[in-house]
Amino acid sequence: MTEGVKKEKLIIYICLVLLTLSLIIFLLFSLFSKEKKLENKMDNLIFETLTTKKQVGRLNSIEDKDKNIYYKISYPTTGEEGVDKVITSKIEEIKEQTMLEYLSEIEEVNTYYFIDYEIYIGIDNTISLILRENIETLDLNNTTKEHIYIIDVNKGEIINKEELFNEGYKDTLTSYLDNDTLDESKLFIKGDKLVVDNIEIPISEIESVIKRENKITEYEQSDTEEPVYTIINKEYMSIGDTVLYNKDNVSSEIIGSIKKDEVVKVYKENDKGWSILLYNDGLAFIESNKLTKKVDKVIPAEPGNENIVEETFYAITNVNLRSEASVKSDLLAEIKRNEKVTKIEQTGSWTKVRYKDIEGYVSTSYLSKTMVKNRVVKDNVTPQGQIDPTKPMVALTFDDGPNPVATPMILDTLEKYNVRATFFDLGNLMLKYPDVVKREATLGEVGTHTYSHKNLNAISDKEIAKEIELSKQAFNEVLGIDPPLLRPPYGNANAKVRTLIDIPLINWNVDSLDWKYLNKDLTLHEIDKYSNLDGKIILMHSIYKPTAEAVEVLVPDLLDRGYQIVTVSELAKYRGITLETGKIYYGFSK
Ligand code: ZN
Repeated sequence: MTEGVKKEKLIIYICLVLLTLSLIIFLLFSLFSKEKKLENKMDNLIFETLTTKKQVGRLNSIEDKDKNIYYKISYPTTGEEGVDKVITSKIEEIKEQTMLEYLSEIEEVNTYYFIDYEIYIGIDNTISLILRENIETLDLNNTTKEHIYIIDVNKGEIINKEELFNEGYKDTLTSYLDNDTLDESKLFIKGDKLVVDNIEIPISEIESVIKRENKITEYEQSDTEEPVYTIINKEYMSIGDTVLYNKDNVSSEIIGSIKKDEVVKVYKENDKGWSILLYNDGLAFIESNKLTKKVDKVIPAEPGNENIVEETFYAITNVNLRSEASVKSDLLAEIKRNEKVTKIEQTGSWTKVRYKDIEGYVSTSYLSKTMVKNRVVKDNVTPQGQIDPTKPMVALTFDDGPNPVATPMILDTLEKYNVRATFFDLGNLMLKYPDVVKREATLGEVGTHTYSHKNLNAISDKEIAKEIELSKQAFNEVLGIDPPLLRPPYGNANAKVRTLIDIPLINWNVDSLDWKYLNKDLTLHEIDKYSNLDGKIILMHSIYKPTAEAVEVLVPDLLDRGYQIVTVSELAKYRGITLETGKIYYGFSK
């Protein structure tokens, strides 16, 4: 072999090595950049000015006046550029469309144009946005339009129904709904549930029709019994060294700690005695009694926001006017039911109002744009006679009891009007108040709500079996039967849980929110929102006096309106449904 050939071979060898190296580098680089593209943009989201219906973002408001049209447009900034672009472009689009449609009419008279929103975090890195347009003219014409968008946070794009569902999804969803007009349905994702016309369907139950991989984000099970939050927006000081949790629960994960005298900004406080604060760019929970107030100055949510639009609202019930947006602030006056207030500004779940020249704050849920009808216990209503299966019927259900005070009040009403209801009782309380349970069984039906109200989705198979076994023992001891129905606590029973339960499961499709309001008028007002109750299952609780007071009015009112009040089992039977074990039912419409 000559020197020349050797040299040539060496050069080829070096070239090959270089080529291989560059190929490896190229592959690594493309892999790395792909990795970057897959970064989860959910981490960029902002969590501020939140309420149960505004779960993400920061509240923004634009107010403007153009000729005789007043605008107030509220919208969220989520912190994720792509999503925010979608939101602002959609707002522009619908506003433009509405102006085109109504311009000739609204140029004539003074008009208020509002956009408000709801926003929810869903599984699979989605955000659902509901934009609600409200056009009011002074001659009392009132138009509301609703627009719903499901947004892919990582792509910054709207997901349409074709991208969300597999073919044949309509049949599956229709089985959960009252009617089959699915094309007109309001449909969005909230947590791990698909919401269709106010009915929440756990996605785990309809996995087969969902096209997207809904397993990407393990989203927290959202409990139905959410705590009530109050906006605080104030600085507090820690009384001592203390830890921060990721949930409002001392058995949840500890995610940090603060030192004595450390100052933190508290956004919200819930009625379970927990405060939410910003910590390391995320949210953290702390027990409110570990904090002391530092400064009295309120941190404004929207600085410099002078408002022009003023609207009239009515108090749904007697309600307190407060000096600040907090139940702990000074009491300025008591506003009586149906008394008028002028809305000045809404800050989260509180509304700043003027009442007889006094300015103050009222919890927004206590205000209505219309006067509430006067409701009294009607004594002239005829008690229910025999059930006519062809006529409308509704099932009242009462959870969490028995209770020695409120439950007998409810039973008295059922007895007075000869109507029946279903009680979902806790095993441990059944053993404590067996006589109340026996009366429930005489005047209606008793199902189980487990033994001790555990979230079945969050406990082991062994614990689930124990909850069921102990409830069966309680039923047999008090009533001598096995429980015929089960209502899972918080409505939570995923596919795995249901395979372990040999009882039919009953959820609801009307939530009275009685546990949240603890107020007769507000509870009745919530049920009033449903115009047709035929075949519906109404969720209430048998442990609160305000609920029992609401029932005293609700029962004769429903009878007066032509509804028959039956148990869940009767409703299913009259509607020709044979209840199956391990299956969840939400209602039994025709
Ligand atoms: Zn419960």
